[in-house]
Amino acid sequence: MATVQAATMIQPGEIALREYPKPEVADDALLLKVSAVGVCGSDKHMFTGKMNLDWPVIPGHEFSGIVESIGPRANDSMKVVGGPLKEGDAVTVVPGTQACGKCWYCIHVPHRPQLCPNRSVFGFRTSAEAPHLFGAFSEYVYVPGDAFVLKLPKGLSLERAAMTEPLAVAQRAVSRALAPGIPYAGEGFGAGSRCAVMGVGPIGLFVVASLRNMGAGDIIALDLSDARLEFSEKLGATRTVNLSKLSREERKEQVLSWTDGVGPDVVIEAAGVPSAFEEGLDLVRRGGKLVEVGHYGDPGGVEIRPHQICNKDVDIFGSWAYPQVQFETVLDMLSRTTLPIDDIITHRMPLSQVQAGIEITGTGDCLKVILTPGE
Ligand SMILES: [Zn+2]
Ligand SMILES: [Zn+2]
Repeated sequence: MATVQAATMIQPGEIALREYPKPEVADDALLLKVSAVGVCGSDKHMFTGKMNLDWPVIPGHEFSGIVESIGPRANDSMKVVGGPLKEGDAVTVVPGTQACGKCWYCIHVPHRPQLCPNRSVFGFRTSAEAPHLFGAFSEYVYVPGDAFVLKLPKGLSLERAAMTEPLAVAQRAVSRALAPGIPYAGEGFGAGSRCAVMGVGPIGLFVVASLRNMGAGDIIALDLSDARLEFSEKLGATRTVNLSKLSREERKEQVLSWTDGVGPDVVIEAAGVPSAFEEGLDLVRRGGKLVEVGHYGDPGGVEIRPHQICNKDVDIFGSWAYPQVQFETVLDMLSRTTLPIDDIITHRMPLSQVQAGIEITGTGDCLKVILTPGE
């Protein structure tokens, strides 16, 4: 019997290659041969025990691949962009399955499907039951009939397409600051808006690139690493602040000096550090917008002065995941952008190196690790 190798997290701190039977596809499903899969900060959180999941789990939610086999009804049952799908097509798949359509959130706020508690997400879902392959740190992913699958635009590489998911997180965070129709009135993000990004790790860098692609004016990047700050300039940042070189007061003065003394129109917190949220609130101008996209994990709290929120008349937005269709706008950006977005990938490793890939993520000069199970 043919088998599939998949990196399986048995429990936090323990990940190993396991063999699974290669599944037959159901009429409405497809089997995807994984070409490239990104290692995410949340995979590291999973590995270090900061996530309560139903083990074992095959991680991997940022992926692209080739359709290996497809059931005769898959094109009818799945949501497909750029279809119909056939064997050999290069695709990416939204890791979150469709919302249930029946819960309180689905009934009352259907435009926010990521709030549905009944979704499951590839890479976080248990692999205990057949067909097991619900994460992309694997040679194959089993894509069930309720999936959202997008054919890659011509000319877009499978490797670049593996960045669709984290870029969707970033693009959605920027979208939260939009106020359709009225950016000219100084409300919401629009052409020429002055922005600040707290933290330019992978998500912060994707935020910078999204802001640039969406017409931002000045983009101020704040981080502790000179290497990251330099790279953020290649993706569109126009000013940088190294947090380790200036005191809190000094950097506020610096940012104010670049923004007519009022502060940025939009501040996006992507560091995942509670104090960065508080500092972002301090920096954003009165009447501006503050978006929180860095805290997918929960590292604790920070003291907030409610007076500041009230007095600034500020809008504060959380950003959690994205609607599935965000993948379509991201693929469009990935295939058009002239920014050197591939340079976010600092490490390429075979599946057998998965543990090293997780361990190196978030350290030193590492930005994005891509695993290549298909090789
Ligand atoms: Zn991720
Ligand atoms: Zn629901």
